[in-house]
Amino acid sequence: MENDDLVDTLELLVKLWDVHAINEFKSKNLSFAIRGIDKYPNSIAKASEEELLQIPGVGKSVVKIIQDFAQNGSSIELEQMIEQTPPGLFQLLKIKGLGPKKVRAIWQELGITELDDLLLACQENRLETLKGFGKAVQENVLTYILFLKQNNKKLRIDKATYLAEILMLELVQHFEKVEISGDLRRNSEVIDELVFVVQADDLFGAQIVINSMSHWNENVQESSPFTWRGFIEGHIIPISVHIADKNQFVNLCFQLSAHPDHLAKVNYYSLFQNKSISSEEEIYTSQSLPYIIPSMREGRFEFEWSEKYTNQDLIQWSDLKGCVHNHSTYSDGKNTLLEMAEACRNLGLSYFGIADHSQYAAYAGGLKPDRIVLQQEEIDQLNQKWSDFRILKGIEADILPDGSLDYDSDILASFDYVVASVHAGLNMDLEKAMSRLIKAIENPYTTILGHPTGRLLLTRPGYPLNTSKILDACAANKVAIELNASPYRLDIDWRYIYEAMEKGVYVSINPDAHQIEGLKDMEWGIKLAQKGGLVKQFTFNALTADELLHYKR
Ligand SMILES: [Zn+2]
Ligand SMILES: [Zn+2]
Repeated sequence: MENDDLVDTLELLVKLWDVHAINEFKSKNLSFAIRGIDKYPNSIAKASEEELLQIPGVGKSVVKIIQDFAQNGSSIELEQMIEQTPPGLFQLLKIKGLGPKKVRAIWQELGITELDDLLLACQENRLETLKGFGKAVQENVLTYILFLKQNNKKLRIDKATYLAEILMLELVQHFEKVEISGDLRRNSEVIDELVFVVQADDLFGAQIVINSMSHWNENVQESSPFTWRGFIEGHIIPISVHIADKNQFVNLCFQLSAHPDHLAKVNYYSLFQNKSISSEEEIYTSQSLPYIIPSMREGRFEFEWSEKYTNQDLIQWSDLKGCVHNHSTYSDGKNTLLEMAEACRNLGLSYFGIADHSQYAAYAGGLKPDRIVLQQEEIDQLNQKWSDFRILKGIEADILPDGSLDYDSDILASFDYVVASVHAGLNMDLEKAMSRLIKAIENPYTTILGHPTGRLLLTRPGYPLNTSKILDACAANKVAIELNASPYRLDIDWRYIYEAMEKGVYVSINPDAHQIEGLKDMEWGIKLAQKGGLVKQFTFNALTADELLHYKR
């Protein structure tokens, strides 16, 4: 059992104890222990009892639970709790802003255990009457449920890619030629259908083949002679497989993956539909248009963009010189500063920027001033190790509710650069969000605006922003904007990247890595950056360390 899985399971156990109001002391104690377990550098499952007892908060009773999990993959305590919990409550527990105690109140006082009933209760203003809830909580829950319902069957790009690649492997066993098409080929951040094109001359035969594949379940009503539609067992996202003969294959891949607005711009319907084409380039060259790569076929700014840049200008991994928003065990990361830096160096980059959380983010082990001194001393020491690589001293400073940054000037001045981010108080209206962020951008120590909207894809919409004005402020104050490369965020939205470049604002592709594996998230960042048209000359971390550090000062 991996440590992460154990932490998730223990967290669930704490939540269920709280939902059932079982021994508050016991659950507080386990919560505290989980923090220690989360930071434990080695395999918990392999740790001895003595080693486990060294972890802060871990006593004999917790050791017993851990050993249960390690040996049996579960624990009696957890199974009993799950048994006693109405299944619908697990969904309610996922709602942001509803802790286990509130879920308990909803269950015990309103008798609600299902999401749909909770939605109704919000619409009928019954939730706000509960003690400790009020209008604001009800409003949040309502927004969240509606958001959830809307995004019910969608997948983030990383999950969709992973699933599509598995399904591709199955399809290529049966068909000569298979392509991923649809929004995924366009690298959309969120995917609502997985679309494939397969080559086959015999339409009917192709449908039979697909239906013979295990786990592929057809939706007969939605299917047609040319298209198999259905789903894969265990997955909610709809699947479609379009069957094309040899002459129509390229055409169909193009048509199903480009946005309708792009199709209109290339006169697709009048010139190419149902015609045989041998390559996608043909569509562009025949009309003397520049070739647009699949991910940019959105019908937004791609042709305007291509008057200024060529596809060779688009940012690539090999252009990146470093990465500047990462965490270590100093705050809430899983790997040490040295481990993270070495991993970054192994990726071929020449600098690693640490940006651990600042003190306001106490829940994430934000750094108190004495820890900053310690970290910066360690960096000075480590930097003597390499001649071709260095660690930069950064911080992810919280943007406080009033828009100021988390430390005073003399501490802020000790960093090489500052990523300024909002982590708390995300419920803001437009006016509040704008004044808070603009003030942070105007702070002379701010180098990069971190995850600008605070969104979590398919989970949390993020606060409202007038992004154009944010970009103006970034330009005026020489602040770079982050493209947070975590597939959970991908924030700033790619739709604003071209506008950022037009305004002269640099975009920083930041993995926000909390462990070594997280550094690779920059690949998602690059995909979305390219989609937004980001070129090397406007990529902040394509600058050398010296250029980056002198950009503002
Ligand atoms: Zn952050
Ligand atoms: Zn971060």
